[in-house]
Amino acid sequence: MHEDLERILFTEEQIQAEVARLGRELTRDFQGRHPLFVCVLKGAVMFMADLVKRVELPLEMDFMATSSYGSASKSSGVVRILKDLDRPVESRHVVIVEDIVDTGLTLKHLREMILHRGAASVTIVALFDKPEGRAVAIEPDYYGFRVPNEFIVGYGLDYAERYRNLPYVGVLKPEVYVK
Ligand code: 5GP
Repeated sequence: MHEDLERILFTEEQIQAEVARLGRELTRDFQGRHPLFVCVLKGAVMFMADLVKRVELPLEMDFMATSSYGSASKSSGVVRILKDLDRPVESRHVVIVEDIVDTGLTLKHLREMILHRGAASVTIVALFDKPEGRAVAIEPDYYGFRVPNEFIVGYGLDYAERYRNLPYVGVLKPEVYVK
């Protein structure tokens, strides 16, 4: 375990098993369709890469980057698009791949934007769900793990851009935040 972590919440094996399960469900539920998987950078990059390998469909991939104003560990509610999608989503079945749903503000904004652009459907897949953090009424259609109201890092999730490369997910030691 990384020395900055207090404890591990989900091991690499647990994450990979859950990603495989989500891949099987999406494969089953999107039979006959050609979905467009949209990765929300940067946090969802590991999840996206592992998930699409488990989805046996003729899917396409695109990427977008958002940022919410405010401090590193609290969402402010204002979502900025830093990198938009490369291709139109009109008439497409879009699957938004997100790392974690906390307040839900990012996903609410993205879902409305993609529907407004004429997508046929928008489905939300999040690896982690933090239901206690919710500020708006939005739920992922598929999720991997419920997590407590704590700040987690690893498997794409960062603190000040670090720890994204950990293959597992955990909670930082309190002293790491004051360094
Ligand atoms: P929301 O808009 O739902 O509040 O949060 C969206 C984004 O906030 C997530 O995609 C993620 O980047 C960040 N976030 C929320 N909770 C956590 C957390 O526990 N750890 C990390 N590293 N990022 C989080």
